[in-house]
Amino acid sequence: MVEPQTGRRGSVYDNVVWQFNRASDLMGLDSDIRKILSKTTNEIVVHFPVKMDDGRIEVFTGYRVQHNNALGPYKGGLRFHPAVDIDEVRALATWMTWKGALTDIPFGGAKGGIQCDPFKYSQNELEHISRRFTFALGNNIGPEYDIPAPDVNTNAQIMAWILDTYLSTMPPHERQACIHVVTGKPIESGGSVGRDKATGQGVVYTIEEWAKDKKFDLGKATYTVQGFGNVGSWTAVLLKRHGSKLLAVEDASGALANPQGIDPEDLLSYAQKNNGLIQGYPQAKAIDRKTLFKTQADIFVPAALENQITAETAPLLNVKLVAEGANGPTDPDGDRVLQQRGIDLIPDILCNAGGVVVSYFEWLQNKRSEFWDLEEVDTKLHRKIVSAYARVRETAAKQKVDWRTAAYVEALSRLETVYKERGIFP
Ligand code: NAD
Repeated sequence: MVEPQTGRRGSVYDNVVWQFNRASDLMGLDSDIRKILSKTTNEIVVHFPVKMDDGRIEVFTGYRVQHNNALGPYKGGLRFHPAVDIDEVRALATWMTWKGALTDIPFGGAKGGIQCDPFKYSQNELEHISRRFTFALGNNIGPEYDIPAPDVNTNAQIMAWILDTYLSTMPPHERQACIHVVTGKPIESGGSVGRDKATGQGVVYTIEEWAKDKKFDLGKATYTVQGFGNVGSWTAVLLKRHGSKLLAVEDASGALANPQGIDPEDLLSYAQKNNGLIQGYPQAKAIDRKTLFKTQADIFVPAALENQITAETAPLLNVKLVAEGANGPTDPDGDRVLQQRGIDLIPDILCNAGGVVVSYFEWLQNKRSEFWDLEEVDTKLHRKIVSAYARVRETAAKQKVDWRTAAYVEALSRLETVYKERGIFP
């Protein structure tokens, strides 16, 4: 299905609405359920003061948007970034609902964040910002109600501070029963093995399925990656284990290429000593952003921010597959160009669902006081991703639609069934 150019750009939430409407029209989604799912349930905006290292006070704006909890508690990451705003958080929360529904886990969708540039602050200031945000959210989050996790510029350490702050506000006898209030925690603080790599692992599981379908040898594959944080670096490291070759990579500091291949593990250890950034890596040459998009490779993995593959950049791509590690990296115009050019796409709500699936495993382990080993986590994750992939492939073939629409149809069908079974109170 090739869509007309939308002519719209910018609002990420508009992109979600566009995707939702396209799938709802196609499947004939019940019009009442459509009304419910096209709105977020709760939108919390908090302004909170934090004392800086030099004694000054800064006031921050934080968000938590809860889109839908028909399938289970609200679930979704927290992002610290200057571009965080209500439109972006709304979109990210909505994608989380679809992701939980598609992968068949008992979670709804939420997302949150703070509008700030975390690189401007000391560790001590970041800790205070994270703790004060948690305090400001209060009972709007909770282990059986809304469970945050890491996203852009947040990590296991920040989850540990959120956990500690949340527990400190609980009555002492309830604290131990609440450690599943966040996922993506450090392992010693109740995290799950395999959560750190889970999103990248899920991306690679979907790429493996695509390669099987196409009878394509990943041992001979070349790929490029945009974003070299949690998702991008783990995807690259895990693709290396297949023998695939990384030709070019970009992060917030710029882009690099080496036609002989870049070793993702070596690049990662360089970045870890360089404020997390790839700039200046000596084994590759600096290139501009356009050259990254034009690099001929088999697979492109966007793993940074939204709206990267657009009417301007999609025509530049010289790949067979786009595997969306990031949320919302392709806008509706970008989608249209990829389809016209016959470039395959594994959509975000399937491709990067590994993170929320292993977050669910972490949540379960916490509730049951269990510790699974890596083999158990990976085996269960693999089963979930392969099953969702197979359902999307089948729907795409049966309905003759693109894979994003097929993934939406799968997710929305599950939500529609649940709403029809339960009805609407009162
Ligand atoms: P991260 O903060 O670990 O990494 C983000 C990366 O993107 C960094 O390398 C950063 O330098 C780079 N980046 C930022 N701005 C850029 C720009 N303008 N151009 C190029 N690169 C840029 O974040 P992450 O957790 O890896 O998340 C990346 C994406 O994956 C986001 O869309 C996020 O929502 C999505 N995602 C993350 C998870 C997870 O478990 N962390 C799960 C599902 C989806």
